[in-house]
Amino acid sequence: MAQASNHPRLPMIPWGDVRRRPEDRGSSSVMEIDCPLCGQALKVPARAINTRCTHCHKHLYLENIVITDLSGRTRINTCGDVVIEAAGRFSGELQATSVHISGRMLGSLVATRSVTITRSGKFAGVIATRELQIAPDAVFQGEAFVLHEDGTVTHVQGEPLEA
Ligand SMILES: [Zn+2]
Repeated sequence: MAQASNHPRLPMIPWGDVRRRPEDRGSSSVMEIDCPLCGQALKVPARAINTRCTHCHKHLYLENIVITDLSGRTRINTCGDVVIEAAGRFSGELQATSVHISGRMLGSLVATRSVTITRSGKFAGVIATRELQIAPDAVFQGEAFVLHEDGTVTHVQGEPLEA
């Protein structure tokens, strides 16, 4: 029995939900992002709104954006996270780290970490990301490409785009 305790079995839990590493826990002062231009991971102060990539030296915007109603912007490019709330509307090009859609988005979406479309969310267009979650009642029209760590890509076909 002592031998067994040296090799505890991992409980069967949804490991996909366990993403934070121990050193990230409770440290809100630093966040880790992937540079959308060169793909390298870098750590930046959580409160910073812009920085320069330590690998490719390109300028990066870091702001977190919450879209609460009709957005007049047609292009968002940030290394922060974007939330489109239930009454939020965005159409155009969006690039961010993680994107959470409870409202509507039309266009092209690149999220270097994850995209979540909640049950009230509607997306039409093309998504490229590493982790895609679509609630059962969400509307997803178009297609998505999910890049896995081993370099393979899963193609997700949504409903046909409305004319
Ligand atoms: Zn870079």
